Amino acid sequence: MMLHLSGIETFYGETQALFGVSLEVGPGEVVALLGPNGAGKTTTIRSILGLSPPRRGQISFDNHDITGMPTHRISRLGISWVPDDRRVFPTLTGARNLRLGTRKTRFRSWCQDEMFGIFSALEHLMRRECENMSGGEMQMVAISRALLASPGLVLFDEPSQGLAPNIVQGVMRTIKRLKSEGISVLVVEQNALAALEVSDRTYVMDRGRIEYEGRAQELLDNPVLRRRLIGV
Ligand code: ATP
Repeated sequence: MMLHLSGIETFYGETQALFGVSLEVGPGEVVALLGPNGAGKTTTIRSILGLSPPRRGQISFDNHDITGMPTHRISRLGISWVPDDRRVFPTLTGARNLRLGTRKTRFRSWCQDEMFGIFSALEHLMRRECENMSGGEMQMVAISRALLASPGLVLFDEPSQGLAPNIVQGVMRTIKRLKSEGISVLVVEQNALAALEVSDRTYVMDRGRIEYEGRAQELLDNPVLRRRLIGV
């Protein structure tokens, strides 16, 4: 397994947000993490990244125990994050943002020209400050920065949030491309159908617990289950 969470329990102060969450992402596998607001999806991502370390349970990545490891060490091992609010540096240009993200790991490294191949509009953003970009443009910078960090696993938190439908399709195509390169992906999405279309497996969370685990296609094919679990 590339990523393995075993029985993690994460708290905000005294408030427990995750109650024994276990999940796995295999090499080159795309996994969708779905569920209603407040289910604990973002907290799961924060736990993996060491931003909200779990109080109990264990997290391993690429055969390293990363439970309780500081965030910078976790990312150096090859986990990249595309946050829902992008977190690009607003006053820096696209090029500077990308340069700041560039890193070598044991995984496949990417160069800027390959990013221009994936996002044809990216080249024109290199000299523009991020604060003067649209949401979709910032997302291209955020995803490119995540890839230039040579990840083995990319965590996407609500990548389609605030984006026009055609740009959402572009993001989903990029996720497929990552899979074809052998990169593992865990994607949290409100847009459950779009995420399921590109995923191999899915977990559905509710109130801090995993309520369902199965093949993405199984959920797509079963309207009753779909309506019960993700309301569509
Ligand atoms: P959303 O789609 O709304 O982001 P989510 O599934 O990502 O939902 P989380 O944000 O992980 O859910 O929230 C899980 C639980 O933890 C919720 O009950 C939420 O209120 C609580 N929570 C989240 N962040 C904090 C925080 N910083 N302090 C206290 N409680 C928090």
